Amino acid sequence: MAPKDSDCIFCKIVAGDIPCAKVYESENCLAFLDIAPVNAGHVLVLPKGHYPTLMDIPEELGSDLTRTLSQVGKAVMEATGADGLNLMQNNYEAAGQLVHHAHFHLIPRFSDDGLTLWAQSAYENSEEMTKLAAEVAGLLK
Ligand code: 5GP
Ligand code: ZN
Repeated sequence: MAPKDSDCIFCKIVAGDIPCAKVYESENCLAFLDIAPVNAGHVLVLPKGHYPTLMDIPEELGSDLTRTLSQVGKAVMEATGADGLNLMQNNYEAAGQLVHHAHFHLIPRFSDDGLTLWAQSAYENSEEMTKLAAEVAGLLK
């Protein structure tokens, strides 16, 4: 049985207790329109089970999730006539996560929509970059 949280708005949507503009459902995933879209057609894709962040989603849901993201992404682009598509995913409040049930944003983009979703910075030098890559890689061994 997939975990649920009775206080979670997305669990209530999955259960059908709160309505949504559903676009797709698979065995483990649900996709519906974001109520406050960046651009019209902005869709949220989520595992039906309550997993707070990306890092909590069980590996076995990976193929259903990626298939759903790809299929819904194609349909969103075609339905909106978008020129591009952003996949965004926020984890923890510091990264802008408002709903603590892991979800993926599919945002249709247009060449002239004028949006900048993030700003980039730079490393001090290549040593700093190499050291940080080694630290992360060391945790993956
Ligand atoms: P986050 O900031 O957690 O990555 O994104 C949460 C998203 O959920 C926001 O873009 C917000 O507009 C959307 N959202 C919050 N509550 C509801 C709801 O009740 N219905 C729908 N369709 N979207 C919601
Ligand atoms: Zn939930």
